[in-house]
Amino acid sequence: MTAAQQTIHVGGEWRAALSGATREIIDPVDATPFEVVAEGGVLDTEDAVAAARAAFDFGAWPRTPAAERAALLRRVAALLERDRERIGALESRDAGKTLEEGRVDVDCVRDAFRYFADLVENENGGGRAVDAGSDEIRSVVVHEPVGVCALITPWNYPLLQASWKIAPALAAGNTFVIKPSEITPLTTVVLIELLLEAGLPLGAANVVTGPGDTVGARLAEHPDVDLVSFTGGLVSGTKVARSAADSVKKVALELGGKNPNVVFADACSTPEDFDTAVDQALNAAFIHSGQVCSAGSRLIIEEPLRDRFVAELSRRAELIRLGRGTDAGVECGPLVSAAQLARTEAYVASALAEGAVLRAGGGRPAGPGYFFRPTVLDRCHRGMRVVREEVFGPVLTVETFRTEEEAVALANDTEYGLAGAVWTSDESRARRVAGLLRHGTVWINDFHPYLPQAEWGGFGKSGIGRELGPGGLAEYREAKHIYQNLAPRPVRWFAGATAK
Ligand code: NAD
Repeated sequence: MTAAQQTIHVGGEWRAALSGATREIIDPVDATPFEVVAEGGVLDTEDAVAAARAAFDFGAWPRTPAAERAALLRRVAALLERDRERIGALESRDAGKTLEEGRVDVDCVRDAFRYFADLVENENGGGRAVDAGSDEIRSVVVHEPVGVCALITPWNYPLLQASWKIAPALAAGNTFVIKPSEITPLTTVVLIELLLEAGLPLGAANVVTGPGDTVGARLAEHPDVDLVSFTGGLVSGTKVARSAADSVKKVALELGGKNPNVVFADACSTPEDFDTAVDQALNAAFIHSGQVCSAGSRLIIEEPLRDRFVAELSRRAELIRLGRGTDAGVECGPLVSAAQLARTEAYVASALAEGAVLRAGGGRPAGPGYFFRPTVLDRCHRGMRVVREEVFGPVLTVETFRTEEEAVALANDTEYGLAGAVWTSDESRARRVAGLLRHGTVWINDFHPYLPQAEWGGFGKSGIGRELGPGGLAEYREAKHIYQNLAPRPVRWFAGATAK
């Protein structure tokens, strides 16, 4: 990490906040501060946008050939591999993940950089010839960088979410200012250091650590920013879209989810299949304490299977080992903050008041930190807030269905539409249900995997636009149609004006 509190990077210089303000970064395992960062404000944001603007308008990066941009992204991937342990441990501490999750996050970040490097390199210029129906016309559509990108990221996958924006933004030739979550900014600062070490021209990458309602809001509304890509909650996302409207910039939103995990009884007809479906339902709901946008937080299960499935799932939920992510045997860390803990407690209390039946967890374990026990709430229904709204904690609700139509209707009965799964041994049912689910990702007999080659994003209030895949690169580009007349001659529309 750079010198203490100099976590703002503007135009090639690491600095403290212009106001001198700082923020303590809290270890969620024991609720104690372990790092101090600059608390940037609007003035720091102005400087960062100006640096990114100058680097885009006059700097080398937008004019660097695709092969060289790809080579730089690959150097970043190699540096991530070199520093895997260090960065994985930092992410684990900052975001309250297990060390293994921190390491896997670094691997996924590396893969994102490699994927976008391959994608731009293999385009061979990327222009598309258009048949204008005449030998006298040469017409081609080319793709150019959008310009200055504002990237705003959340605290649950700080480095991973940053990479899904930074890698395509740079691959396309843009410059950027990133504002990481004020709760978990540390690994984003390290990533900027790696970009510089890899040789990115100064000014192309800028970071302002600071709050959303000042730094984030100014980035979203700034007239010199051409695109804002935001990942976070629905409430902040709608504010970003409103702030961006006046300057008519491009907006990409990756928001929350209330993701259904639909289990048909035929998926559990052998003991092995039952074990797999229960294991994956546990993983879907409770990995990273449920602080995952695609968490399978709604179990929608065929009625005759419910009692057996929920009993086994709840038994296993009680056995999940909570603790510090670097300690041996720990499977799950705490929630990220006191606010997130209070929010989770409030949702469980409201669910119980509305008639849910507690099968596992339901409260905090003894000891310090922001831990909450993995919680299973049975007998839930759409009338309950906990079923409709994103908790972003280790809380699984259980609903039941009797027919396939009912299962699909329940799974789609959400204002979100990020991800969902269907478990069945019936191949035609699997394809039918997958086709009917209104979610950006649908898993069949699996939960959570994603591929850098495949677009990620949501239907409905889960967002606008896509990350990853070719669509994730297209977000960071403008299409330009170049039409060349090889045999120009008068049009004579205004024949009267031409007549002598
Ligand atoms: P959040 O909305 O509170 O904050 C996200 C980011 O936005 C932070 O950097 C924050 O400082 C900033 N921000 C807040 N108010 C702002 C404003 N008015 N203008 C500009 N920026 C502002 O979200 P969070 O609590 O950090 O993250 C959790 C949320 O993120 C969940 O809803 C989760 O589902 C979502 N998420 C979605 C995806 C996805 O791929 N769809 C991935 C990860 C997280």
